[in-house]
Formats: sequence, structure tokens, C-alpha cells
Amino acid sequence: MAKRDYYETLGVPKNASEDEIKKAYRKLAMKHHPDRNQGDSSKVAEEKFKEAKEAYEMLSDAQKRAAYDQYGHAGVDPNMRGGPGGGDGFNGGFAEAFGDIFGDMFGQQRGRSGGGRQVYRGSDLSYAMEITLEEAARGKDAQIRIPSWETCTVCSGLGAKPGTQAKTCSTCHGSGAVQMRQGFFSVQQTCPHCQGKGKIIPDPCTSCHGQGKAKRQKTLEVKIPAGIDGGMRIRSAGNGEPGTNGGPPGDLYIEIRLKEHDIFERDGDDLHCAMPISIITAALGGEIDVPTLEGKAAIDIPEGTQTGKQFRLRGKGIKGVRASYPGDLYCHITVETPVKLTEHQRKLLKELDESLKKGGAKHSPGEDSWADRLRNFFK
Ligand SMILES: [Zn+2]
Ligand SMILES: [Zn+2]
Repeated sequence: MAKRDYYETLGVPKNASEDEIKKAYRKLAMKHHPDRNQGDSSKVAEEKFKEAKEAYEMLSDAQKRAAYDQYGHAGVDPNMRGGPGGGDGFNGGFAEAFGDIFGDMFGQQRGRSGGGRQVYRGSDLSYAMEITLEEAARGKDAQIRIPSWETCTVCSGLGAKPGTQAKTCSTCHGSGAVQMRQGFFSVQQTCPHCQGKGKIIPDPCTSCHGQGKAKRQKTLEVKIPAGIDGGMRIRSAGNGEPGTNGGPPGDLYIEIRLKEHDIFERDGDDLHCAMPISIITAALGGEIDVPTLEGKAAIDIPEGTQTGKQFRLRGKGIKGVRASYPGDLYCHITVETPVKLTEHQRKLLKELDESLKKGGAKHSPGEDSWADRLRNFFK
């Protein structure tokens, strides 16, 4: 594609003044600015912007303009843009006009967001809270001590030592932002010198170290909802660190941890507990008491119950925060071997053993099938 005439691109006559060229370019740069050209038109706008930029760059430089007037595009090489003191692809005149144009635009934006200083949201805080299983199941109202920030009384929040004053940042002239070139666009960045505050405190207040605020403690009432589980977080909006330059505060997150329970283990909304029973109960059956979070419950152990058998108590688990029904309680049976036997008890057990052996395999189904498997294994 043939390159357009630079004067045509900017829409100015051949004898246009420096000022007319600058104005024409400014108009085009605004029109094709990426902020105003989103989506499909952005690609075209970028091309138009680049074209106008190149034309302006050539025509705003008297030497290059003269070469262009005499020889046309052949007289100037747009890729040799360094010029005096250049090397970054921009000459002084262009960069100046560029900063000017976008300075104006950002000036308007700053006016809208107030003061031009960078506004930051405060950081979020997290607070670990350990609660018991019972508290988690029923919910609780807790009080916690959290940090809070008050205006420093020594410097009245100004951050400067009494009798001294903060100075306007010389890098950003108090705006809190600087223009940086990124590719061929100028972008606004937080001033690295004052971190966007727009001010430098040469002599900081010794009480608050120039922060203008002092850390204190405050008591916060927290409602722990019934059914909460370990690993869940409760958000307390606005109770994090304060924002900078009037920015909103962060949030406080209370992270729940569950204390280990003597009896129950929690798995989601279900509870599990180990239930040791005697060999007599296991053999003869009987009713036993099992613990639940609401007190005792009874379960019927059928005769011949083995270790590993589990009994489910419906609805005796925990009703989760968002659940409609409570979970279940699982009792895991272990049959306990009697220990520290007297001579008499030993004798009774031996008698029992004799009697059971006479009955054969029917009394010990596990042992019998195990013996079968052993026999097959060694065959
Ligand atoms: Zn600054
Ligand atoms: Zn202070």
C-alpha cells in the first residue's frame, strides 16, 4: 500500500505552521486514543494513531520536514527516529506534545477521582479462631480483639513531626502519578518516589513513623453460625487495614479451626466415634449407650456382632451451615479382649473354649473362612 502523504494524514496544508501541525495531531491522537476505541475498532484506531504519530514526528522536526518536502518519503526514514539524544524512538518535540496531550486527559480523570493522589484499598486481615466441635455445631457469639487504627494524636494525622511540614513530591509535583512511555502509548503510573501519596515527609512523626495513624486494639463481636466447619472463613467487611488516601478499608477474615474432640471425629456433616464393647455383649447382644452431641442415645447390639461393624444413627451428626438436614453419627464397633484375668476367669474361658471347639466352625465364621484361605494358599 502506498504511503499516505504526511500533510494529508494530518489534514493540514503544505505551508501549515508548527502550531497548526501540533493541533491537528492532537485532534487525531484524541480521536484514535485506545480509551475511546474499544473492541473491533481498536485495531484500526491503533493504525491510524501510528500513522498520525509518524506524520507528526516528521513534520514537527524542521530538518526532517525540509527533507520530506524536498524528497518525499524517500528523504526521511521513519525507522531512524532517534534524533538528537534519542534512541528510544521519540524525539523531544514529539514526547513533549505527547505528554502534553495525555497529561490533559489524565488531568481530567484525576479531577474526577479527586485530588489526583493514588487511592488504595486497605489490606485484608485474617484471624485464626479455634473452636470446639460443640461450638461449631451450635454456633456461638464470640468476641475477638483485632487491630484498629486511630489518627495519631501527636501529629494530628499529618505524619510530620510537630513543627515540621510535609513537602510536595518533586517527582510528581503532588499528583501521585507519573507518565511513563510504554510502546508508543503514554501510561500513568504510581509515582515511585512518594508511592502515590503526592507528599514527602522529610521529618516524620516519631510516634507514628509518618503513618499519621496509630495501631490500637478493638473488640469485635463475631457471630459464628451453627454448623460451621474447620477451614471455613467468616468475612467481616471493612474491618481490615485502612485504605490509603481515603481508599476503602480491607476486610477481616476469621478462619475457623476445630479443636480435636475426645470422642468424635467430624467428616463434613457426619460424625464418627469408636465404640468398644465386651466380648460378652458382642456374643450375646444387648443395648448399649452411645454418646451424641445432644447426650446419650441407645443402640441395640445384635448377638454375634464383630469388630468393624458400624451402626448409623440418622440425624445425630451436624447440620451444616447451608444444609437442610443434619448428618449422621457412625459408631464403629471394636470388640475388646478381656485383660488381667483371675484364675477363675481363665478356667471359665478354657471351659468355654472346649465347648466351642466341640461345636466346630459354626461358632467362629471368621476363623473358619480364614483357615480355608490359608489352606488354599499353602496348597
Ligand atoms: Zn511523587
Ligand atoms: Zn504521628
